[in-house]
Amino acid sequence: MNKLLVLIINDMVIFPNNEVRIEYDNNYDKQMVDIVDHIEDNLMLIVNPIDNSDIRLTSFPKYGILGRLKLKMNVPNGKTRIVIEGLDRVSLSSIVEDGYYFRANYSEIDILEDDECKNYFHILVKELEHYVTKIPTMGNAIMSQLSGMDSLSELCDLIASFLPLKYEDKKKYVTTIQPIERAKYLLEDMNRELKFAELEQKIEREVEKELDKTQKEYFLREKIKLMQKEIGDDNNKDTDVERLNKKISKLKCSSKVKEKIKRELDRYDSLNSNSPELGMIREYLDWMVNLPWNHYTKDTDDLVKVKNILDSSHYALGEVKDRILEYLAVKQNTNNLRSPILCLVGPPGVGKTSLALSIAKSLNRQAAKISVGGINDEAEIVGHRRTYIGANPGRIIQGIRKAGTANPVFIIDEIDKMTKDIKGDPASSLLEVLDPEQNSKFSDHYIEEDFDLSNVMFIATANYVEQIPYELRDRLEIITISSYTEYEKLDIAKRHLIPKQLDEHGLTSLQVQIDDDAIMSIIQNYTKEAGVRELERNIATLFRKIVKNILLNKDVLFYKIDTALVEELLGKKKYFYTENDTVNEIGVVNGMAYTVFGGDILPIEATLFKGKGNLILTGSLGEVMQESCHIALDYVKANMDTFGIDASLFEENDIHIHVPEGAVNKDGPSAGGTITTALISLLKKQFVDKNIAMTGEITLRGRILAIGGLKEKVIGAHRANIKKVIIPFENEKDLDEIPVEIRNDIEFITVRNYSEIYHIIFEG
Ligand code: ADP
Repeated sequence: MNKLLVLIINDMVIFPNNEVRIEYDNNYDKQMVDIVDHIEDNLMLIVNPIDNSDIRLTSFPKYGILGRLKLKMNVPNGKTRIVIEGLDRVSLSSIVEDGYYFRANYSEIDILEDDECKNYFHILVKELEHYVTKIPTMGNAIMSQLSGMDSLSELCDLIASFLPLKYEDKKKYVTTIQPIERAKYLLEDMNRELKFAELEQKIEREVEKELDKTQKEYFLREKIKLMQKEIGDDNNKDTDVERLNKKISKLKCSSKVKEKIKRELDRYDSLNSNSPELGMIREYLDWMVNLPWNHYTKDTDDLVKVKNILDSSHYALGEVKDRILEYLAVKQNTNNLRSPILCLVGPPGVGKTSLALSIAKSLNRQAAKISVGGINDEAEIVGHRRTYIGANPGRIIQGIRKAGTANPVFIIDEIDKMTKDIKGDPASSLLEVLDPEQNSKFSDHYIEEDFDLSNVMFIATANYVEQIPYELRDRLEIITISSYTEYEKLDIAKRHLIPKQLDEHGLTSLQVQIDDDAIMSIIQNYTKEAGVRELERNIATLFRKIVKNILLNKDVLFYKIDTALVEELLGKKKYFYTENDTVNEIGVVNGMAYTVFGGDILPIEATLFKGKGNLILTGSLGEVMQESCHIALDYVKANMDTFGIDASLFEENDIHIHVPEGAVNKDGPSAGGTITTALISLLKKQFVDKNIAMTGEITLRGRILAIGGLKEKVIGAHRANIKKVIIPFENEKDLDEIPVEIRNDIEFITVRNYSEIYHIIFEG
């Protein structure tokens, strides 16, 4: 049999059929972290050492509890909460030390219960009934657990787990095997407490007679403290209550919320310190007194200052910056204005999150950030009800508490990546959060009281607008941030990333200079991205290595970084964009692709060989792109006379279309025109100029329809030295977005129908 891990506990006792909740800090509680990480089948042996101050093999008792890890969950502040269930009392053997922890064998213990046990069972039940009526803190929940029970051993465990005894006094109930012996201990312990209770009542009667009201209260409080100390309940609940009371008096919440907190505090105060409810109420109180009820920061009203902060932290992104300034301007003109709910949409690394953080800074607001990517449970947004074991507030309230004010800039990342399943639809919960009609009374299931979110400025981020749940999209002011061109990246690097990284590495612009070619080479050969995150990381790597060199080799104090030094420090070039072919080939035409990395050209190849008219598609094409191939072929067949193609070619050959370039996601209809051109080139045996690229969806009747991502596609084509680009007529309006330096290098031709493309390519 495998040895089980030993969990050493020296402040509480777990009994069979009893569950306990333990919370530990992942940074400090090495034992718990190790055990939970290495546990097998969720089983462990729980041991209360004989001598707490000296934990060694020799201080282990002969008996312990076989326990099962029932639940494990992460809670805020780097803590983990677990629930352990006691299964059985077992005898321990062959304990060995194994690294940081111990392992041991165990065997079950047979306990036979005879008639005498039965007698003790009845005596104990009677005594318990008496005890429950006399000791008010005990509550009679325990009585309901007796029904159906007939084992003395189980009864003893149940009572022992309820009795408010000191840890040292409780330990014996685990290591004493014979139930009759345990029953005798229980009778003794209960009797002692009953005597205390009688004494207490007696004092009370006398006190009542002799003291006036205030003195009486003081006396009683002191007395309870003394009594609690006597029965091992000398934790610092009183000081806790005092501290909470002070905090409550300072809270700026509504009187309704205050009442609720006070009620919970009274309940907390009245509970016995062993009550399982105590921890839960304490945690609830902790949330309630630490939420920033009606605590607001004042927005900066200096528009110029806001503009300067935004400009100094982020290059371009004019639309978002303008929107923020407009908001402030209108707010200054009116008194009460709801914050806009912005949604920044764009590829990774284009500055969505960091800009939102700058907005917070520029407005003088706190920032809160959560990510809703991958969540499928609405409780993640609105919290769990308190009756749920391990309940917590949802992420909105958690973010608000972290921010510490009721009007932060609240960033909700990855709003396009939520999923929906049987646990509910988080998007509809988020809708309540974002809806200005409802969010002044946002009710988290755990908090239970309304929290006013109407002054929060929500900023969501997403990669793809189409994937944002429809009902949410409706509420958001979508602002699109597109990929940066290489020139924009160069500017961002020079104005923002390099100064920022120099500063972070303790370098100055005098010590390190980096020329434009070097930056461009990082952009082109070491990064493949739409944004600038990888670029920033590479610049950081460069500077890290330079700092190391400066410190190791004290002779060289100044560095001028050129392309050669970039290659020396960053290693071999990593990325190469698709290079345009050097010769024109029959059946090969340049399409244009738009990916999360930005744009690139996408050559499409077609070939034919003897066969029976089959169409073969390769290159891992998505469903829509496969359809495009069929449409293109049928369109060419239907118009073969116009294109001067011989019908027999289709009957006697198989046609194969291939789209190389493995890294690109090949789906979407926008290659339709390109595929058609590749087929005609193949069948007419006529070259297509390699300096031309095209994009556009084709219909069966040859219409050319609009496509997305034109800016990125054109930037990609420009990089590949394309000189002429054919685009759908409907995309003409998007040409304005393309940087002038690129627009000037390329000739654009807009078309409505394929016949126009045919004319340009094959008749021009
Ligand atoms: P996203 O949220 O869009 O994925 P981030 O906000 O995390 O991107 O940006 C990644 C890094 O790039 C940050 O360090 C940010 O400062 C920098 N960055 C992105 N866009 C810009 C810009 N326009 N100007 C200056 N820095 C930028």
